[in-house]
Amino acid sequence: MLDFHMVDHIQIVEVSPRDGLQADPADLSTEQKIQLIDRLVGAGHTRVEAASFVSPKAVPKMADGDEVMAGVPRLDGVSYSALAFNIRGVERAIAAGVDEINGVVVASETFSQKNQNASVAESIEKWRQVSSAARQAGMKTSVVIAASFGCPFEGRVSPIAVAEIASQIAETEPDELALADTIGVAVPNKVAALFGLVGRQVGDITLRAHFHNTRNTALANIVAAIDSGVRVFDSSLGGVGGCPFAPKATGNVPTEDVVYMVEEMGFRTGLDLDKLIEATGWLEEQLQHSVPGLVAKAGGFPG
Ligand code: ZN
Repeated sequence: MLDFHMVDHIQIVEVSPRDGLQADPADLSTEQKIQLIDRLVGAGHTRVEAASFVSPKAVPKMADGDEVMAGVPRLDGVSYSALAFNIRGVERAIAAGVDEINGVVVASETFSQKNQNASVAESIEKWRQVSSAARQAGMKTSVVIAASFGCPFEGRVSPIAVAEIASQIAETEPDELALADTIGVAVPNKVAALFGLVGRQVGDITLRAHFHNTRNTALANIVAAIDSGVRVFDSSLGGVGGCPFAPKATGNVPTEDVVYMVEEMGFRTGLDLDKLIEATGWLEEQLQHSVPGLVAKAGGFPG
C-alpha cells in the first residue's frame, strides 16, 4: 500500500572505494577494500562505486577491481557500479559482476586529454560503445560530466558547453547523468543554474550531483541542488578522495556530513549515521591518517 505520508528520500551513492581511495596516499589491500565495502553496506548503503576498470597502468591503485568485486557482499537491493572508459573495461566489469557502468566525459579539452587521453568528442564516442555494450549485458548506465563547474587547467567552463555535452549523452539514454564539481569550485547559485539548464536539456533522465569539498562549498551546493530537484548525490566516507589527474583536488563531500544535514532537514537516506561514524573511525585506522569529515568528530545530534 502506498504511504501518502512518505517523506522525501535522498539517495546517496558511496564513492569512497573508488573516487576516494584512488586519490588517497594510502595503498589499501584488496582485503581492506572489501572490508570497507562490507561496512558501507552494513551502514545501509545500496549504491556503492566499488571499482574502476580503466588501464591498470594509468591507475595502479584500482588494478584489483576484479578481486574486489569477487569479495563484496551480494545482497538484494545493493548495486555496485564501476568506471569504464572503453570496451575492454566494460568486458572486465561484466565478468566481475558489476551492476552499473559509470562513464566519464570531461567538460573541458585539456582535462579530458589528461584524464582520459582523449578529446571530449572522442570520449563521447567511446561512451556510446561502452553504453551499448553495458546495456546489452543488462547493466544500468550512468555518465558523469567531470569538471562541469570549472577546469584545473582551463579555468571557467561554459554552462552552454556542459549542456551541449549533456544533450549528446542523453541520446544514449543513460539511467542517470551526473554533474561533477571535480575540483571543488562551484557555488550554490551556479549549481542551481547549471542543474536547471541541463535538466531542461535532458528531459526525464535522473540527475545526480557529485561535489568535492575543496573550497568548503560542497554542503551549500548540495542544498542548492536539492532545491533544484536533485535527489541523488555522490559522497565519500570521511570525505576521502580527490583526483590524481587534477592538481590539488581534495576530497569528496563526506558521506556522514551529508547524511546528518539532509536527515535533520527532514529527508530520509536509509543510512545509519552511527554506523557511518564507526566506519569512518575504522577507515582512518586503515589509511593511517585523519579524514576531513566533521560529523565523525562531533557525532550526531546530541541526546
Ligand atoms: Zn570526484
